[in-house]
Amino acid sequence: MEPASFSSLLPEQDKPPTPGRQRVSVLLPMPFPGPFDYVAPTNMPLKAGDIVVVPLGRRRETGVVWEPNPALPADFAPPPQRSVDMARLRPVAELLDLPPLSAELRHFIDWVAAYTLSPPGMVLAMTLRLHMRGVPTPSTGWLPVSPLPDTLRITPARQKILDLLQDGTARTTTDIATAAAVGPGVVKGLADAGALKAVKLGPERPFAAPDPHHNPPVLEGEQATATAALHETVDNGGFSVTLLEGVTGSGKTEIYLEAIAACLEKGKQALVLLPEIALSAQWMQRFTRRFGTQPAIWHSEVGQRARRLTWHAAANGSATVVVGARSALFLPFENLGLIIVDEEHESLFKQEEGVIYNARDMAVVRARLSGFPIALVSATPSLETLANVEAGRYRHLILPSRHGGASMPETRIVDMRDHPPPRGLFLSPALTEEMAATFDRQEQAMLFLNRRGYAPLTLCRACGHRMECPHCTAWLVEHRAKKILSCHYCDHTEPMPPTCPTCGAENSLTAIGPGIERITEEARNLFPDARILVMASDTLGGPAATAEAVAKISRREVDLVIGTQIVAKGWHFPHLTLVGIVDADLGLGGGDLRAGERTIQLLHQVAGRAGRATTPGRVLLQSYTPEHPVMQALLSGDFDAFMAQEAAQRRPGFWPPYGRLAALIISAEDAREADSTAAELGRKAPYGEGIQVLGPAPAPIAVLRNRHRRRILLRTVRSIAVQPILRRWLGMVKPGKGVRIDVDIDPVSFL
Ligand code: ADP
Ligand code: ZN
Repeated sequence: MEPASFSSLLPEQDKPPTPGRQRVSVLLPMPFPGPFDYVAPTNMPLKAGDIVVVPLGRRRETGVVWEPNPALPADFAPPPQRSVDMARLRPVAELLDLPPLSAELRHFIDWVAAYTLSPPGMVLAMTLRLHMRGVPTPSTGWLPVSPLPDTLRITPARQKILDLLQDGTARTTTDIATAAAVGPGVVKGLADAGALKAVKLGPERPFAAPDPHHNPPVLEGEQATATAALHETVDNGGFSVTLLEGVTGSGKTEIYLEAIAACLEKGKQALVLLPEIALSAQWMQRFTRRFGTQPAIWHSEVGQRARRLTWHAAANGSATVVVGARSALFLPFENLGLIIVDEEHESLFKQEEGVIYNARDMAVVRARLSGFPIALVSATPSLETLANVEAGRYRHLILPSRHGGASMPETRIVDMRDHPPPRGLFLSPALTEEMAATFDRQEQAMLFLNRRGYAPLTLCRACGHRMECPHCTAWLVEHRAKKILSCHYCDHTEPMPPTCPTCGAENSLTAIGPGIERITEEARNLFPDARILVMASDTLGGPAATAEAVAKISRREVDLVIGTQIVAKGWHFPHLTLVGIVDADLGLGGGDLRAGERTIQLLHQVAGRAGRATTPGRVLLQSYTPEHPVMQALLSGDFDAFMAQEAAQRRPGFWPPYGRLAALIISAEDAREADSTAAELGRKAPYGEGIQVLGPAPAPIAVLRNRHRRRILLRTVRSIAVQPILRRWLGMVKPGKGVRIDVDIDPVSFL
């Protein structure tokens, strides 16, 4: 396709408005290599950033008036467009009544596109596809009546809603349920009881302004020092990166909320990126406690209407604090002055599909391009971030101890070789004894296993057949309650077969290994009286249900929580004193560069749920490799020493963060096509000092959704950027039929 000429060569009926003299480039939110040229009608003078509707073939599309970005290094800039004769250009059809995209945001979009080797239109799509056209229809909000009906029965859940609505802001049922961490039924119940009155929420529902003076905390010692330092970077303005590091429960959240307060006082907007915002009801409550109202929320599970409101409110400045998932980074803020990236080490910040980018890293870029401060927050910072601290690029604030005298949990390793669980079971006596003692003290326990379902492998005892996904190189996971086998890499599910599909043997299919469903079964048999709550993404039905589950734990209506990585999120469970890690070795296998780092981050986070209040906590790690550096580091709590060791291992080979890494994933439905393109890339591989190419090799998941996958890694020393090399390299190779080449800069997943 000829980019520059494409739109102009198809004559259409849309003759008026009369074309004027002004040539404009318009970037469309689509995978073209660059913007297309149009002509502005004389009565429609246009400037860069204007959001317009233009003809494209027979369709009309929304795009943005673009101009070349002077800040991009030549190697990074998209290829120049062929110029089309003015007379053949088609006119822009409409200028939309929306705030234009700022130069900062446009430069950011160009930058992300160039860095990730994505078409700029696909990055723009992250800003635009957000349904920003049209006026949202009004919906119903609730406010308390005054006085409340005499007959009203006040339950704790109802009280929470009334407390929340005290600020006079009408909210939708969903918003109330999320913010107050109650089920939507409680809201309905209150309304039915005549305690709430319905009001129409206008389409322009302004976001109530968070008040920086509403309820400031008392900060002393280390907390006060860190707060002052962060406050200062916000006051001074200008680009800076601060790593706020502190053990779980040390008050990091409390402190960065103060940085947000400082930002609000300066009249600027703040953005908080959370890895799993849909699960952050507790975070919302804390925000509300501090600022008197909720922030604007942005993630994929927020309805379209709410998202549209947030988009507009970010653009016109009426949303002063937005908290969101990674895509919130592409909102068109009017006046952004601070970004906080909480749990900066989380691999969830990496988007693995479409535009493959790391929101943490791109957040730093956005802050740099716009010249404002950013804070990265973690109990277990990534090696990337620590390396930036060491190189003097990032500032480092440390909170070494838990707030309010809470102690760090005492950690013990259960050597599973010496203390194996009973045959066919997975909980060692050492762990179950601790659980019994915990229940006796009326305290709560948690079991963590990062694996959904009943068992990760189903094997025929007669012939050895393994149940595998027909579309992926992956075992099928048994989900016993649903009586199905399911692939965790694609959508494939099938009923559990009655006999072995290969040899036909009856009753020969055996579950191998545990998932949390199986652990739950074991725990039920051991502790029939314990009230058990299972927390996994597939068993909890969405944010409201998760909030309700968390509220139940806080209210002590649960004795034992069994969960996957959902339980590792920043929850504060004051009565939880025992955490059992069922399989601490899980995640250490495989050739992943960051396996150790990631395991320690996850397990530390899980362990951090124990003993967050005054009663001390205990953590038991079940492991078959207690001597492993990860186990030893968890035992000693010496995260720094472990990371220093990781650094020492990666440095000599120029592995990230001491060198640069990019992955090419070559995939096709036809294995031979994938192989021949991969081989061609191998033959044309770049070479030179400081440049190394590894592969092609079959990907660990060699077939995914019916596509055969090959991988190539490009590794360079830090002083050599990978993008220009990749651009030249990819330009030399024509992908075979049906072959897709995905470029993953700074890969975190090696599947
Ligand atoms: P982190 O984010 O480091 O895990 P939090 O900010 O969540 O730590 O703090 C842990 C708990 O201690 C929270 O319940 C928080 O409200 C409380 N807390 C921390 N600092 C203070 C403070 N200065 N005053 C009152 N409560 C605090
Ligand atoms: Zn599959």
